[in-house]
Amino acid sequence: MIVARTLEELTHSLSKNERRVGFVPTMGALHEGHLSLISMAQANADLVVVSIFVNPLQFSAGEDFDKYPRVLESDIEKLETAGVDVLFAPGVPDIYPNGQEVSEQAGELGSKFEGQMRPGHFDGMLTVVNKLFEIIQPDVVVFGQKDAQQVELVKRLIAKKTYGGKNVELIVGPTLREASGLAMSSRNRYLSASEKIVAESISQALFSADHSNSAQAAIAAARATINPEARLEYLELVDEHFEPVGPDFQGDALMIVACKVGSTRLIDNHRIHIEREA
Ligand code: AMP
Repeated sequence: MIVARTLEELTHSLSKNERRVGFVPTMGALHEGHLSLISMAQANADLVVVSIFVNPLQFSAGEDFDKYPRVLESDIEKLETAGVDVLFAPGVPDIYPNGQEVSEQAGELGSKFEGQMRPGHFDGMLTVVNKLFEIIQPDVVVFGQKDAQQVELVKRLIAKKTYGGKNVELIVGPTLREASGLAMSSRNRYLSASEKIVAESISQALFSADHSNSAQAAIAAARATINPEARLEYLELVDEHFEPVGPDFQGDALMIVACKVGSTRLIDNHRIHIEREA
């Protein structure tokens, strides 16, 4: 595996080939969820680039940018084992040579749900994703459904842009979970044993909303299941455009949730089907 720590090193490792390039952006502290996205990229591309970059622009003051887990050596081992071709692990000045400025706007959806709780997060996320796409010019990118609102915004970004004259194909990988149902996350390592039990109620809450006969019943089931020690930030049922569903909604909807367990912020989501009983 080529480890490119600068733009120059990356450009050098990509310029020699004309093959279909797959790209998986991450912030590192890799787990099985990340590795599953990498397998999907490998199945859909000839050369796979993974990036590890903790993007300061998508963290607000008071968030965990400084303490976000940075474990590059063990990540490199995992990527080697996975057969990744190129790791791009740049420093902040490589990505923001002219200062940390937002260049992409997430619009209205960028200030809802995650965006409301984390102002500026999605502008920062889109800014770095756009920069990485400009640098790597991938044919196909793989993102995780775990970050459903991010997926929707990336979809909108690539619908309006080309990179190196090419459209980007987006593949969305399913959320990998631990046996308990807890969605895998780099932030799970912050959880104590007792906090982990509280965190496990998040996915249980989502699953308890399966087969509800109304949006209200779905929300009520989830709220009743989530451990009261999980401090809920939002729990909503949205349609495919991320609009909250109305009381008469029937069909497939996405339940999205964010909460804090101790000082760790966790998000999850799950597709449910709402059908009024005949
Ligand atoms: P992150 O390193 O948290 O920025 O995540 C990098 C990519 O991995 C994003 O596309 C995430 O949605 C995805 N991801 C994070 N957790 C999981 C998971 N449990 N299963 C599948 N993909 C995930």
